[in-house]
Amino acid sequence: MKIGVTGATGQLGRLVIASLKTKVAAENIVALVRNPEKANDLGVEARAFDYEAPDAKAFEGIDKLLLISGNEIGQRARQHTNVIEAAKAAELKEIVYTSLLKADSSTLNLAAEHLATEEAIKSSGMVYTILRNGWYTENYTGSVKGAVGAGAFIGSAGNGKIASAARADYAEAAAVVLCSNDFAGQTLELSGDSAYTLSELAAEISKQTGKNIPYNDLPEAEYAKILAGFGIPEGFAQAIASWDVSASKGDLYDDAKVLSKLIGHPTTSLASVLAASL
Ligand code: NAP
Repeated sequence: MKIGVTGATGQLGRLVIASLKTKVAAENIVALVRNPEKANDLGVEARAFDYEAPDAKAFEGIDKLLLISGNEIGQRARQHTNVIEAAKAAELKEIVYTSLLKADSSTLNLAAEHLATEEAIKSSGMVYTILRNGWYTENYTGSVKGAVGAGAFIGSAGNGKIASAARADYAEAAAVVLCSNDFAGQTLELSGDSAYTLSELAAEISKQTGKNIPYNDLPEAEYAKILAGFGIPEGFAQAIASWDVSASKGDLYDDAKVLSKLIGHPTTSLASVLAASL
């Protein structure tokens, strides 16, 4: 059985390939990537593949596909539909998709594109599994250096609890599902075992750095303005601030521990992702 992985040169995709290589022979893995040269170090076959114009021929010999959601916000429902149409044309049997936690009820402005993709997959007739991935802990640890420099961690998430997990945990879950037939037709809500507020995140940063880094909760518009001041494009800065507001409403929280059950061990703790980033 051959497994194809799109976005395999991205951060999640690389981890999925590494995890798959521990489960199946490298000859049974195909990286479907925009730039095959970027895939030289993956140690698996790489085929050219673009969500803008996916070539059905790229699916030759592939039985199961992992469609990793693209990163061009606003273009993804269309791009993913292109991929689903090409997969159907190639008579691909099975598709696994990386969606968003609670995509059908989340107030995150990212949810609509994921839900549209889920619906396109369900009406394609292919056997499917939807992986509704929660937040990556790395989304926050990327801001730690800036927070330490500025003397505070800022955001608009209030007391919202965030049940994030490491990218590697979600990658391992994708590999488990790709190597099994037990998840056909399922939609899995995946999140970290334990949740934290941004105040608790700031306390952990303080503990690990030995510096006092409080959490300053800001109104959404003020937070977006500060992010734009750091050089983040205005629209994206507003989106980031809005995601925090969704977090304050509980959209990044879940306590079902489906992810750790799937991978057979606890999800990576906030403390260890933070320690690795420092
Ligand atoms: P990433 O590093 O940005 O990887 C995105 C991958 O998508 C890259 O490999 C990229 O190809 C590929 N891609 C984008 N547009 C494409 C196109 N038109 N045709 C073919 N490939 C295309 O993101 P990540 O951290 O691995 O995360 C994977 C996905 O999860 C993201 O794309 C996003 O949808 C979602 N996400 C989730 C969270 C979360 O917290 N759960 C956070 C951020 C993103 P190249 O390698 O050629 O650039």
